[in-house]
Amino acid sequence: MNHWPTHSESHGPSLQPTISMGAPEDVTLLLGPEKQPVRASIAVLCRSSSVWEAMFSGDWNASEKSEIEFPDDDVEAMLLVLRIAHLKFKDLPGKQALPLGQLLQLTLVTEKYDVVHIVRPFLEMFEWASIDKYVEHRSPFWLLVTWTFGYSESFAAFAIALIRLIEITEGGSIEVAGVVLLEKYMPPGIVESMLRIREETIDKMLTRCYNLLDGALTGPSCLAYLPKMPGSMDDTTTTKPSTGSSQGPKTPVSSQGPAISVKSQEHASFVNVQGYTVPEGSQRHKIPATSPGPAFSFDELEKAENKSICSSIILGSLMAQITRMGLNPIRKSSQDITSTVQILAGHLCSLQPTIPKTYDTRGMTSSVPNCTYSTFKSACTTIHESCAIRYRIDYEIAEMYREISSPVLDMHIKHMEEQAKK
Ligand SMILES: [Zn+2]
Repeated sequence: MNHWPTHSESHGPSLQPTISMGAPEDVTLLLGPEKQPVRASIAVLCRSSSVWEAMFSGDWNASEKSEIEFPDDDVEAMLLVLRIAHLKFKDLPGKQALPLGQLLQLTLVTEKYDVVHIVRPFLEMFEWASIDKYVEHRSPFWLLVTWTFGYSESFAAFAIALIRLIEITEGGSIEVAGVVLLEKYMPPGIVESMLRIREETIDKMLTRCYNLLDGALTGPSCLAYLPKMPGSMDDTTTTKPSTGSSQGPKTPVSSQGPAISVKSQEHASFVNVQGYTVPEGSQRHKIPATSPGPAFSFDELEKAENKSICSSIILGSLMAQITRMGLNPIRKSSQDITSTVQILAGHLCSLQPTIPKTYDTRGMTSSVPNCTYSTFKSACTTIHESCAIRYRIDYEIAEMYREISSPVLDMHIKHMEEQAKK
């Protein structure tokens, strides 16, 4: 269903001869714009509905009229209510046999004439409003049904479900699965409340996304080469053999080499050594005791380069994904998001950085004679999984998606409590 059912669609066969509700009939109801005549009992009508009771008292008695028009009401829905009131149960639709459009019209008539107490037993007995059907069809008018018949739990659950599915069209209309949330078919105040929660949820998700990006820009990056603590003997955070840098001749470091720019990190500060920036802490204790080499170790330089590669890959991959989602470079707020929370959450859950791999090459080329590229690669690859994994937000976004606040207001709860008592 991609639109609201209307009178014409839910309309049964066109004008029939006068329909009888059974004796004692003392009034003719003219239903709908076509004025379908129905003979009914005033006593039954008054007993069924406080609205009808008011209609048939006072002035009505004095006027001695025998006809009354109901031009705005759906004929089929009115007939259904009248049949229930006049105990003509065999003419009611069977189990789950009430089409969606007719349920909407029945709900409107039930609310208008305050006949929930006589309609609800049949609604439940014949499962005319089986919730599976409406959840499956994502039909927003289930809200009106639950509101009218006082099913507060279903109302709350369905309102939250709808928040995830609301989208704003180009023309600015509010839709769920292609169905416009028409004010006249929605309980009062609920659409505004759902929109507010939708905005809050979107802003929360976007804030998390942008914090992630800012974290990748400015925060601590590589964890794969934590500086050694004094007394520690080898670097167990990489797959590289620990003997790599301490044997054989070193590759000379060119003073023209590129400066590696690495943001200051939580666990190490950096100093510039002959054009390279290396971790300050590691410099002191990485000098092998047996090495006559320079005052810093070559693999420290390489690690510093690799750290930069690591943070660049993480930042770049995140930025590319967020940009492809349309959320960057101009940062968005809930006001800019027209798609559903479901779609946004799906995109943000899929957001994950590329896991960087780096190769600690210099030590190996010099320390392993006749080393081939493949043995070299397998022995020297550092997979920066722990660096990348900190930049995943799927779990948090999934929780925000699950934990959407309820848009149900006190006035809704009160109304449904009253309806449920009828
Ligand atoms: Zn790393």
